[in-house]
Amino acid sequence: MKTLTVKVGKLTIGSDAPIVVQTMCNTHTADVDASVAQCIELHEAGAQMIRLTVPTLKDVDNLAQIKARLLEKGIDTPIVADVHFSSEIAIAVAAVADKVRINPGNFHRDHEKAKAQFARFIEVCKTHDTAVRIGLNHGSLGERITNLYGNTPQAMKEAAMEWLEMCIDNDFYNVVVSLKASNTLVMVEAYRLLASAMKERGVVFPVHIGVTEAGNGDAGRIKSIVGTSTVLSEGIGDTIRVSLTEPPVNELPVACYLADRYDGKLHSSMVSVKIEGKKATATYCAPSRERLLMDAACDFGKRLMDHDLDEIEICGSYTDEQGQEISLDGSDYAAYLEDEIMQAARRRFYRPEYIACPGCGRTMYNLESTFNTVKERTSHLKGMVIAVMGCIVNGPGEMADADWGYVGEGNHKVSIYKKKTPILKHIPEEEAIDQLIALIEKDKENQA
Ligand code: SF4
Repeated sequence: MKTLTVKVGKLTIGSDAPIVVQTMCNTHTADVDASVAQCIELHEAGAQMIRLTVPTLKDVDNLAQIKARLLEKGIDTPIVADVHFSSEIAIAVAAVADKVRINPGNFHRDHEKAKAQFARFIEVCKTHDTAVRIGLNHGSLGERITNLYGNTPQAMKEAAMEWLEMCIDNDFYNVVVSLKASNTLVMVEAYRLLASAMKERGVVFPVHIGVTEAGNGDAGRIKSIVGTSTVLSEGIGDTIRVSLTEPPVNELPVACYLADRYDGKLHSSMVSVKIEGKKATATYCAPSRERLLMDAACDFGKRLMDHDLDEIEICGSYTDEQGQEISLDGSDYAAYLEDEIMQAARRRFYRPEYIACPGCGRTMYNLESTFNTVKERTSHLKGMVIAVMGCIVNGPGEMADADWGYVGEGNHKVSIYKKKTPILKHIPEEEAIDQLIALIEKDKENQA
């Protein structure tokens, strides 16, 4: 999709530029040393743009220090400020960061005041050549929009177009837009609607693509790839982030793979495919287990989501770390990959669906190990949607569609949610998983 050109520091996003790979620190921005160290690690692993959370006005200064320290080391990777719930922080940090991500759903509660604050924000961005991301998430659409359109892809598109019109009204075009969701169908539909609406409007801003709160491990990777590759394969997408509940450096091999594949720099290791009715049988000769996973998720995610196919079978082989060729024909790994791709495309659910944020400077507990324990203890709850979220500020709003949610409050305390309602608050961390499981079991008994 031909878009406007956006400048973020030294980088170009959109137009004919290659897909830009980005990630986000999970350090506390107030811990300048740790944040600088993580930025260096991410830069060395291939991140072309790095985002950090800016939860307080004081963190504006911390972000300035981080940026200055990186520049001293010769690292001019553009730094993006992630701002929620405070238009004043957005205005302040626009003078410091290369780009500011705002979430229209929480920029300001009052829409008229939001417009006035946004105009102030844009003036600072113009003065300092700062780019902006209008970053909407399915789980955190404002009440005004959901009252009008429900919690739907259409609502996401309408909200994005409203804020893009505000950019146009303010004669500001250094803007990227994103519409993320954890549900791949919602996310894909939202991006398709947005692309059509921008084309119809005649002003096409570059698009940031991602599946938010995708989780971790193979499942998180496959879900991210299925959603992101579907949109990229349709020519929509100029910058990407793969969000994993893991150290952020782990996101980069997956994001770089996607960027390379959709920039035409690499091809699938699939050597042949036989289509019978709506079943595809694909034969691979993959150079690694990881590569097989990524290739197969790209090859079949879109076709399954669009119902061009109903079933896939993975055959052939991959080479393991010892250089041995491992046959896939009839193997457990092939069956597992088929199940995971079907679940990521939302065609068949063979286990619970998990929503877990990647964590950021707002996370106050060990999100990754907690998420892994929750997964282990709930693996029997097929079809249920369970969320594990890093903070109480954004977590409850972001876990759209979850049946149950574990939300870190800070201070070693946790809230447990049933749908959107907090059922238990301020539970000590060490008791929280047991309490969550007990509540789920009791609820199941009551429903039986
Ligand atoms: S929900 Fe997770 S990623 Fe989002 S702000 Fe909170 S801790 Fe950070």
